[in-house]
Amino acid sequence: MPAYKAPLREIKFVLYELLKADSLSNTVPAYAEATPETIDAILEAAGQFCEEELQPLNHPGDEEGCHFDNGVVTTPKGFKEAYAKFVESGWPGLPCDPDYGGQGLPKLINFAVEEMICSANLSFGMYPGLSNGNYNAIHAHGSDEQKALYLPKLVTGEWSGTMCLTEPHCGTDLGLCKTRAEANADGSYNLFGTKIFISAGEHDLTDNIIHLVLARLPDAPAGIRGISLFVCPKFLPTADGGVGARNKVACGSIEKKMGIKASSTCVINFDGAQAWLVGKPNKGMSAMFTMMNTARLAVGMQGLGIAEAAYQGAVTYARDRLQMRSLAGAKFPEKPADPIIVHPDVRRMLLKMRALTEASRALSYWMGLELDIASHHPDPERRAEADDLVALLTPIVKAFLTDHGFDAANLGVQVFGGHGYIREWGMEQLVRDARITQIYEGTNGIQALDLVGRKLGTGVGRMARRFFHPVSEYIEAASEKPALQEFVLPTAKAFAKLQQATAWLAQAGMADPEEAGAAATDYLRLFALTALAYMWCRMAEIALEKKDGEEAAFYDAKLAAARFFMARLLPETNSLFTMLTAGKSTLMALPAEAF
Ligand SMILES: Cc1cc2nc3c(=O)[nH]c(=O)nc-3n(C[C@H](O)[C@H](O)[C@H](O)COP(=O)(O)OP(=O)(O)OC[C@H]3O[C@@H](n4cnc5c(N)ncnc54)[C@H](O)[C@@H]3O)c2cc1C
Repeated sequence: MPAYKAPLREIKFVLYELLKADSLSNTVPAYAEATPETIDAILEAAGQFCEEELQPLNHPGDEEGCHFDNGVVTTPKGFKEAYAKFVESGWPGLPCDPDYGGQGLPKLINFAVEEMICSANLSFGMYPGLSNGNYNAIHAHGSDEQKALYLPKLVTGEWSGTMCLTEPHCGTDLGLCKTRAEANADGSYNLFGTKIFISAGEHDLTDNIIHLVLARLPDAPAGIRGISLFVCPKFLPTADGGVGARNKVACGSIEKKMGIKASSTCVINFDGAQAWLVGKPNKGMSAMFTMMNTARLAVGMQGLGIAEAAYQGAVTYARDRLQMRSLAGAKFPEKPADPIIVHPDVRRMLLKMRALTEASRALSYWMGLELDIASHHPDPERRAEADDLVALLTPIVKAFLTDHGFDAANLGVQVFGGHGYIREWGMEQLVRDARITQIYEGTNGIQALDLVGRKLGTGVGRMARRFFHPVSEYIEAASEKPALQEFVLPTAKAFAKLQQATAWLAQAGMADPEEAGAAATDYLRLFALTALAYMWCRMAEIALEKKDGEEAAFYDAKLAAARFFMARLLPETNSLFTMLTAGKSTLMALPAEAF
């Protein structure tokens, strides 16, 4: 297994030098305690926990998988102990509300912690990850009584949470949901139905599991407008917050699957399980969206974490593995052959992984910062702006970062050659683990539809302008800085293509929604690459300022990655533009029966 080293220098570069996260403690009173000393201490401790506790369990956890025996699910050896330490150190409560026992620290810091957890052990990260989404939904939509009952236990991590949406016949189209709720005289409900693919639906890590379940009330309208959200605990809580009687909810089986084998993926049967409505009747989807939006960004962090792990493994191997001589003549004549890192094609793979990973970290952490501003900035206008920007870029972070995580894992295998395909090296596990991130929390195709169908048009382009305006202002201001031109000119070209594509979409999509559907995935990638180019311009600007100082090698490497990105990756925007504006005709010509 390649060892994982938490990339703290990279993380701090983005947090402090790019995003100036250290100023949050001054500008946003709610984060007064998030001083650089506190942030540094958290990052160091999280990095150490991931390197020493979680990463060593990753490969054995994959080999062993979860066990199912008559409704009982046991996680692989070591997971229970690691989870207990995770809870003991207070990690679950990091970004949570202090009113419920949380530490109230910025979500941005939690993003960095999530990235490291996902690099070290994606399966482990699923358990607290789902709980955090569950916490967010109850926090936003639960009654005071529900918040008092569930949130403190979710914050400590003593109890965990799930999101129960999917049923055998309904995944993307949740309007087809059949699970039903029958009212009881005491105001509670009984749930009947079966949910499938429920992550962390049953396990041995916590005393109780709190399910959030989409179900239909008897008089509910058909489709998506008739879905309500319910909270349904595995054990009914006692009045003093303890664990009471067993509820009628049970795990029917766990899935045998391609990856994240140490994360339980469960069939959950509700056989008259007692549950309580969360929020208003028939408004379950909007409540669930609270959970899904944060969860989508969290899945983006999974992609980033996998990409970083794959890159680290590939670089270490490429420095060690000796094969053939450099095309420019032997670079290490004292060795029987040169290390493969001298070969242009291996460098192409490593630099692709690196340039996209570093810019993806910058983009996603920026969203973490904006999420904090949207939640707690004293100026309501600034909050609204930040909220729009996060909403616009959430599908991009989810889809692009997970596509990149999978691609980077694949490149990692390629760098290892045949050894990458062999289980003991751990590289093929990254490919298998990464694959699901492109599917759950809304497939990446659905993210693209969300971007073009919902986000672009919101407020007559208001959301889109939250990104377009600052980028265009940056390009204009940077045009006066000669040293930046090698980065800004290609970015300006890509940005112009993005603007043209957006105008094309607005027109073609308005006339025919299938045109928007046909262009969506290519448009999302064009948008993402342009956003990464903007990130690289800003990072390169910092590197140019500091490259003659103490950490010359660090900043030189930033510039090298930025140059590679501009020359060898960003030109993909040209072909994406050509493809997406080709329209739907070639996609839709063939009748279904002819496939
Ligand atoms: C390991 C694992 C863990 C999971 N964890 C959870 C969980 O914790 N909770 C939970 O509720 N669910 C969970 N899921 C379910 C997951 O969210 C769904 O699999 C996902 O939403 C896709 O639904 P589906 O599988 O039914 O695919 P479908 O909805 O049948 O989609 C099949 C294909 O059609 C495409 N498609 C569908 N509709 C459209 C459209 N309108 N336009 C364009 N393309 C379309 C999709 O993009 C996809 O490519 C998990 C799944 C797995 C495998």
